[in-house]
Amino acid sequence: MNQVVLRTEGLTKTFAGFTAVNKLNLNVRRGSVHALIGPNGAGKTTVFNLLTNFLAPTRGKIFFNDRDITGMAPAEVARHGLVRSFQISAVFPGLSVLDNIRIALQRPSGLATQCWRSDRILGRLDERCSQLIESVGLANFRTATAGELPYGRKRALELATTLALEPEVLLLDEPMAGMGREDIQRIASLITSVAKGRTVVMVEHNLSVVADICERVTVLQRGEILAEGTYSEVSTNPQVREAYMGV
Ligand code: ADP
Repeated sequence: MNQVVLRTEGLTKTFAGFTAVNKLNLNVRRGSVHALIGPNGAGKTTVFNLLTNFLAPTRGKIFFNDRDITGMAPAEVARHGLVRSFQISAVFPGLSVLDNIRIALQRPSGLATQCWRSDRILGRLDERCSQLIESVGLANFRTATAGELPYGRKRALELATTLALEPEVLLLDEPMAGMGREDIQRIASLITSVAKGRTVVMVEHNLSVVADICERVTVLQRGEILAEGTYSEVSTNPQVREAYMGV
């Protein structure tokens, strides 16, 4: 199996003549937790929107498991296993944690639609519900109303609803945004545990989290790769220190 699960070739996006992403060749290794970092305006969000086809590239291609997914509808991209969390996942605030996860499991490509003919479907659904709830640390919140969960727990529920789609590659857009220190630690260890057996690509501003949980880091600047490597490699790169960290 190819070591690279997701890659872009010459990916370019211009907005009215302004180049936000410029000939990007990104390679994401299978099984890694890969961070995309860079100063504001570097093009990180645009890259995420391109990877999930929420934006069409001006030029270039995107390959997922060697399949050209450029121009594929976002829902189809998700069905192939490349799923974005923390922005598109819907949590129903008036429903319980349990019901939110049940609904997520019954989305197209969720467990229920994969085996709806099976007599054991309800048992399997309940079992998978419990696994998901436990995997994101919400076992004590099963019957809690989603809208009343503390912020960090709500993000954990969003993550569980995304995991219900069984993503092979999970894209996380600033998963720690707006969180206090305790929640950051909890979500960071959650990401490490959900990353087992899958690939995670995340945009993250919190560099100590990146240092702790990401094996690979791509630093973007003006839509181009400024540096790539482990966190200790990129953080000691003089160009990165100058451009990004201001030292
Ligand atoms: P980052 O996420 O790294 O902060 P973005 O991807 O949001 O960067 O933006 C990269 C550049 O592209 C910025 O200069 C931003 O103003 C510009 N940009 C992003 N989206 C649009 C858009 N829809 N129209 C025009 N310019 C955009």
